Amino acid sequence: MQIQENISLLPFNTFRIAVNAKYFVEVKTIVELQSVLASDICKQNKLLVLGGGSNLLLTKNFDGLVIRLGIKGITVCEQDEDVFVEAGAAEVWNDFVLFCVAQNFAGLENLTLIPGTVGASPVQNIGAYGVEIKDTFHSLLAVEIATGEVKVFDKEACKFDYRESVFKSALKNKYIIASVVFKLQKNAVLKLSYGAIQEELKNRGIVHPSIQDVSDVVAAIRVAKLPDPSTIGNAGSFFKNPVVSAALFQQLVSAFPEVVHFPLADGQEKLAAGWLIEQCGWKGKQIGNAGTWKNQALVLVNCGGASGKEIYDFSELIIQSVKAKFGVVLAREVNIH
Ligand code: FAD
Ligand code: NAP
Repeated sequence: MQIQENISLLPFNTFRIAVNAKYFVEVKTIVELQSVLASDICKQNKLLVLGGGSNLLLTKNFDGLVIRLGIKGITVCEQDEDVFVEAGAAEVWNDFVLFCVAQNFAGLENLTLIPGTVGASPVQNIGAYGVEIKDTFHSLLAVEIATGEVKVFDKEACKFDYRESVFKSALKNKYIIASVVFKLQKNAVLKLSYGAIQEELKNRGIVHPSIQDVSDVVAAIRVAKLPDPSTIGNAGSFFKNPVVSAALFQQLVSAFPEVVHFPLADGQEKLAAGWLIEQCGWKGKQIGNAGTWKNQALVLVNCGGASGKEIYDFSELIIQSVKAKFGVVLAREVNIH
């Protein structure tokens, strides 16, 4: 383990933004991480923790220390119908999901093919197709940046919400997640509510799907719809789906009867941000080197050689036009640095 200087972050972010970090280090154990946190370079510089770099937009050179997590390992502990699976922060999320699916451990199959690492998964409570990690999360181990002390967080302490957790709010930049434990089931209760999953199962003639079937179907839907970061830079959905009050929703639906929406348990309505953006004419549109994806306007793409600032400015134009047309202010889901 060695702290390096002036390192390009191009290989470490899926938006493929070419910026440099003043200092860069990869840590493979908690002890290595604690030793970096105790170093003068760490104490004297701002920090950026990096997993797979698939939820970041780097708008300038990072004038501080980047710590890339390299802590690996998967352990399984079976108890009756439950299975507790612990994975190191640097395990690739999709490899971990496929490992669980292959063992017939249920709960993560809808989250197949989400890029990134296990360590980042609690940060925004990753979710897709009606499942969030909070549904199977048991606990995590994190190292406090200020002291190097190791702490266990249970589900309540993580304060999970829609694409949110305590690590994006009150404890932002305070802890580094070293490993996560999931509580999975041997008897699958599959979640098939999303139309795309039902449609693809029907297309394949599958009536009683297995965990593997659901994982395969989700993978196929995602490959067909989303840009592959290895060929076109992106960080998935750039904005969160806005949640609006029942009153605002009534105004919206009378002006735009076709508005795509999903009722939430608390009476509020979730709007599909991709639909709002598309209605403003942004789908597949490009300005300079920044654009939206042709199959999903919610995904901003680097059309080649874009700077982070160019993509950020493009996102600002989208926010303004959605606000002007619908009176709804989109919030960025991607972490801006
Ligand atoms: P990074 O981008 O490296 O980091 C993200 C944030 O977490 C940063 O603020 C970073 O500082 C922090 N962080 C990272 N690791 C740690 C750690 N160990 N401890 C503390 N903080 C940490 N997301 C979804 O929720 N659902 C989806 O369906 C989905 N689909 C996507 C599809 C595509 C094509 C792409 C490119 C992205 C998608 N995403 C999705 C977003 C992204 O994959 C997830 O948010 C993922 O969890 C990010 O993981 P990462 O390791 O790349 O995190
Ligand atoms: P989609 O299926 O076209 O649906 C559009 C939006 O409507 C989604 O964002 C989803 O909200 C919502 N939705 C659809 N069916 C729903 C249902 N039955 N109940 C409640 N809400 C429903 O979306 P997509 O872009 O192809 O993405 C598919 C899934 O993958 C979504 O869950 C999405 O969140 C996830 N995804 C996330 C990212 C990311 O970076 N965060 C990137 C790609 C895909 P939700 O987003 O709340 O599910």
